[in-house]
Amino acid sequence: METVKNYIGGVWKESISGKTEDVIGPADGSVIGVVTDSVPADAEEAIAAAKKSFYTDRTWRDMAAVDRAAILFKVADLIDANAHDLAVTDTLDNGKPLREAEGDVADAAACFRYYAGLIDKPEGGIYDTNRGFGEMFNMTIKEPVGVCAQITPWNYPLLMSCWKLAPCLAAGNSLVFKPSSKAPLSTAKLFRLFEEAGVPAGTANLVLGSGSNVGNVFAESEDVDMITFTGSTRVGQGIARAAAGNLKKVGLELGGKSPVVIFDDADLEAAVEWVMLGIFFNAGQVCSATSRLIIQDGIHDAFIKRLAERASHITIGPGMENPDLGPVVSEDQMNKILGYIKAGIDEGAKLVCGGKRYTENGCDKGYYIEPTVFDNCTPDMKIVKEEIFGPVLSVLTFHTEQEAIDLANDTEYGLAGAVLTKDGARALRVTKELRAGITWINCDQPTYCQAPWGGYKKSGVGRELSIHGLDEYQETKQININLHPEAPVGWYEH
Ligand code: NAD
Repeated sequence: METVKNYIGGVWKESISGKTEDVIGPADGSVIGVVTDSVPADAEEAIAAAKKSFYTDRTWRDMAAVDRAAILFKVADLIDANAHDLAVTDTLDNGKPLREAEGDVADAAACFRYYAGLIDKPEGGIYDTNRGFGEMFNMTIKEPVGVCAQITPWNYPLLMSCWKLAPCLAAGNSLVFKPSSKAPLSTAKLFRLFEEAGVPAGTANLVLGSGSNVGNVFAESEDVDMITFTGSTRVGQGIARAAAGNLKKVGLELGGKSPVVIFDDADLEAAVEWVMLGIFFNAGQVCSATSRLIIQDGIHDAFIKRLAERASHITIGPGMENPDLGPVVSEDQMNKILGYIKAGIDEGAKLVCGGKRYTENGCDKGYYIEPTVFDNCTPDMKIVKEEIFGPVLSVLTFHTEQEAIDLANDTEYGLAGAVLTKDGARALRVTKELRAGITWINCDQPTYCQAPWGGYKKSGVGRELSIHGLDEYQETKQININLHPEAPVGWYEH
């Protein structure tokens, strides 16, 4: 197998360590790729290339916005042209069903088109500052931040990369990028498309390797002006601490333990489908997964019965066979999830369905977990408090609207939340009370690049996607213009 290399200063090259790492496919544990395994010196070389690109060459930064946009539109077209290959790559690497990966690829192209379309339509402010110094005109302009470092997780390998790369490039920055070593292959293919589309050498640099060898160097570097990270809250906290050295700008998209609140009057059949999507999509490895079901006592029994029936029909298998549920990303992740399932049983939650590794129909070599639902949970249980990142749902019951709100907000996270009810006023009232950045009413999970994405509390800092996402990668500069330069100031005449 050919080794997938780093892309630094426009050159594809192996790590100076000469070491490689196998990429394991979760469907059957086989080796599906080999990537170069970078060391800190590779990360430093990439940062130097991005620095030279931004501060010395200035090709991308100084390019007319319409020309930069044309290249990014071309990237989107190339993603479409390579859609099948990219989708298969993510399915083999991450495990997700092929149709989910195809959806990710379509969203990735849409994200590049959105930011390509936005970048030549800047909006600035004009301020009335006619006070003290005579007639002035004050306006703001946006500029790129400089050298950006970006680090992504493995759960949406291509899409999480595009959520960061598209706005960062659109704004005119240069960057260094590290995908998760658990699923790096589609991002490496994306960088090939950058080269083909004409992104200038040195603008976007890819470094493959571990968090400790590469990510750390990005976070600590004095030559990096901004770091954006998507991943676990624990690692995000470390990034924020390391970034304090040169006070680089920080954007963090972190973990979640999001609630879905269902009232008695909700449409039962529709609610069951949304709940399943909220916890079984991508095998529950979704930061915004609604992993806590908070359900009113009147509908509880009928709902759990129907959910168990529907969950028992979920098909499980390799992503390439397009089942409902694919494997989880790795053996470690599978064991971590099984550990949580054991904790749920030990703490006295009632196992309604699932609860085991799935090994039937030739799945014994892969990392599959049955769709699992725990009822009769209490707020102090580990499976209610901690992010599991697997197909495991914990159910809590409430009687009053206030109890539902209190349970929903009883978490250190604040990424997302859903409310299902036919009472429109109540839906809005409860949603407004949720301490979360992404909310859904009578649905669960729909996500669009046109709308802002990000969390409250320990779920993150800043917003991705939408015009807010572009803003994160820009500095705002105010320009004061004296409309009467010939007039004396007269400040010291008293
Ligand atoms: P992770 O924190 O283990 O790893 C994320 C990335 O950080 C990887 O590229 C990893 O190599 C790198 N990394 C690890 N240690 C590092 C260090 N010390 N310094 C710098 N980089 C380091 O997370 P994961 O297991 O890959 O992903 C799952 C997590 O991501 C979940 O908590 C999930 O909720 C979160 N997530 C959040 C969002 C969001 O938008 N909020 C989206 C997707 C995933």
